[in-house]
Amino acid sequence: MNVARFAPSTTGQPHPGTLLAALLCWLDARSCGARLQLRFENIDPERCRPVYLDAMRDALSWLGLDWDEVVLQTDRTSDHEAALDELAAAGRLYPCRCSRAQIRAGGRRAPDGGWHYGGRCRDRSLPASVQGGWRACTEAIRLRLPAERIELVDEGGLDLSQDPVAACGDPVVRRRDGAVAYHLACTVDDAASGVTRIVRGRDLAVSTATQVALQRLLGYSSPRYRHHLLLLEERGGKLAKLHGSVGIAALRRHYDARSLCGALAHLAGLRAAPAPASPQELLPGFSWFRVRCDDCTVRWSGSGLEIVQPAQKRA
Ligand code: GLU
Repeated sequence: MNVARFAPSTTGQPHPGTLLAALLCWLDARSCGARLQLRFENIDPERCRPVYLDAMRDALSWLGLDWDEVVLQTDRTSDHEAALDELAAAGRLYPCRCSRAQIRAGGRRAPDGGWHYGGRCRDRSLPASVQGGWRACTEAIRLRLPAERIELVDEGGLDLSQDPVAACGDPVVRRRDGAVAYHLACTVDDAASGVTRIVRGRDLAVSTATQVALQRLLGYSSPRYRHHLLLLEERGGKLAKLHGSVGIAALRRHYDARSLCGALAHLAGLRAAPAPASPQELLPGFSWFRVRCDDCTVRWSGSGLEIVQPAQKRA
């Protein structure tokens, strides 16, 4: 049986981009009979807030999405630590004392928009200690990935092939503040839940090779991936919850749940017009062939979410 998951970070108020991602993940899973998990990625102590988790849970259920299981990433610490033990025992972890400024000074951008890490601390070792030296480490910890090209094409035909070390550099797996970093937590949790299908936004496509490299080191099988369109703001960036542009409160003032769901289906290309429809009502007609491939620029106005046609975009 297929197992799918929607894994939002609880770092801001839900916005149209999160809700569209949730809807597409739900439609995909429900249309292929997959078991569907909602995993709140809430382990970043700097950016995650319980109020955002509550708001996300409410918004998803208000929209009409349901889940077979709900998991909090903060409950998964022991598995994250076991994976760090395993990687430490395999000699794959090293402490990194490079500051952000030093990494930036390398001057090479990574495809995810961050900076390429050049591997300056790669030959250092973790402090020796009985309990896996990573526990005693007060610096960030990186994973020494093998230099190899991961060949990978997702279900939508997107070529994700990459040598993660050449493209991004060794990833941080545990931050200086002790928090387990996204790639490790996500990879470990997906494997522990037996996830076989990952449907997520195209902004994460460039990270997939790093996660597959990590799966291989930990002896996990790789799920199938599909990366979908993003909603963009007129000024070009992702319609991000961080911008606080269109939060759930504004959406709920304007739309009832079926109207918003219909509007999202229209933005995704699933419906010719933004007519009200529940997730259940969208299910019979759902097919990835009908979901638009290109990102969609959206304007928020008094009449709701509108698609900005390319000709209307300001130069
Ligand atoms: N937590 C990540 C986010 O909200 C997504 C993780 C994933 O789907 O792999 O961007």
